[in-house]
Amino acid sequence: MPPRIHVAWTRTLLQLAAVLTGAAVVGALVGEVWMALAIGALGVVAWHYWKLYDLLRRLTSRSRVPPPQGDGVWQETDRLLHRGQQDMRARKRRLIAMLRAYRAVAAALPDAVVVVERNSQRIQWFNTAATTLLGLRMPRDIGKPVGPTLQPLPVAHWFAHGRRAEPMLDVASPVSSGTRLELRLIPYSEDLWLLVARDVTKLVRLEQMRRDFVANVSHELRTPLTVVHGYLDMLDPAEQPEWAPMLQEMQHQSQRMTQLVEDLLTLSRLEAQDSIGEETVSMASMLASLRRELTMLSQGRHTIGVDDASATDLVGSPRELHSAFSNLVSNAVRYTPAGGRITIRYEATAHGVALAVEDTGYGIPAAHLPRITERFYRVSTSRSRESGGTGLGLAIVKHVLHLHQARLEIDSEVGRGSRFACHFTAERVRPREAAYLGATG
Ligand code: ADP
Repeated sequence: MPPRIHVAWTRTLLQLAAVLTGAAVVGALVGEVWMALAIGALGVVAWHYWKLYDLLRRLTSRSRVPPPQGDGVWQETDRLLHRGQQDMRARKRRLIAMLRAYRAVAAALPDAVVVVERNSQRIQWFNTAATTLLGLRMPRDIGKPVGPTLQPLPVAHWFAHGRRAEPMLDVASPVSSGTRLELRLIPYSEDLWLLVARDVTKLVRLEQMRRDFVANVSHELRTPLTVVHGYLDMLDPAEQPEWAPMLQEMQHQSQRMTQLVEDLLTLSRLEAQDSIGEETVSMASMLASLRRELTMLSQGRHTIGVDDASATDLVGSPRELHSAFSNLVSNAVRYTPAGGRITIRYEATAHGVALAVEDTGYGIPAAHLPRITERFYRVSTSRSRESGGTGLGLAIVKHVLHLHQARLEIDSEVGRGSRFACHFTAERVRPREAAYLGATG
């Protein structure tokens, strides 16, 4: 026991002893010792009960306990209560200050932050930027359902996806269609979700400028290149044999540049699209055309196989799909040494269908795979250049597949070969028309 409490107890016991002694003396004087002692003891008990009652009353009324005077047990109890109350008040003040600071930080954020109650989907709180970016008004919109309040933003449908909701990367602000927003849903506790909206107008504009620039430059290069290419084609190396190697190199390089410009234009066109045509793509014709291209590019250097194992067609853009598949075929030919085998396989999978181009070529080291579909990313620049690559083939494949909600799966082993499989979901698959059933390329 702490010394203070020890002293308080001793003092209280001494008080009891003093009262009882006083009562005994008075009792002896009047000849009623036991009666006087009983009255004294009852008085002490009554006084303690009264103090207990007083303490309970003060605790329940939450009134402030005054700083204690004296040093009995009750004063000691008061002292402890007074200290507890003061600690609690200081902690509360600190917490309120912290809460205010957090609110001030959230309120000052340039991004709109809206706290939404998960089950009712009602708005609980929002910051100042939510007023400028989303048009929310304080206090009008507190407690309102978030979906209808933020219309025409497709937020309600987004909430239905819950934790799996993908961020919306470029949507018009309900306040002004010129302001572009990136919206994210962050479930930060069981009951509360954060809706964060960031102004990406400048970023979107910059991205658009970059796309326009690449598209314009490519477009402007097309005409002069066609002219140079045309004149080079007219020059006959046989007429001036000493110029022959240079002419050949010039023709080769101008062809490469033309291909590069065409690929850049294709990428710009793909980037500008949000969705793709919904035509039925005859896969029997597609495979036949890919086989022809493969045969022509390979020029008898490889063993060729086409396996049409799924009696289905695809829904999408025939032109873009053809461009993606033929890029894979061209890569297989360019990165497979003579004597290798190249197979195009169209088959059903657990979730739809896949068109795969397999080769027994050089293969790709695993470290390069995560970046292989980036523009101009090459495993070996010299090998790619020698083979006439532009470095844009797989970027085109990725974009085309993305527009078809499909994905590219790459399996590769150095020295053994590669498999590039385009996986399409069941929504993109249709049964093949009877006329084409059984046809293989
Ligand atoms: P490139 O025009 O250089 O071929 P791509 O985008 O088509 O550009 O391919 C990127 C890189 O991926 C290539 O430079 C090459 O290193 C590698 N690659 C693509 N396809 C194959 C393949 N079938 N076998 C081995 N490597 C490949």
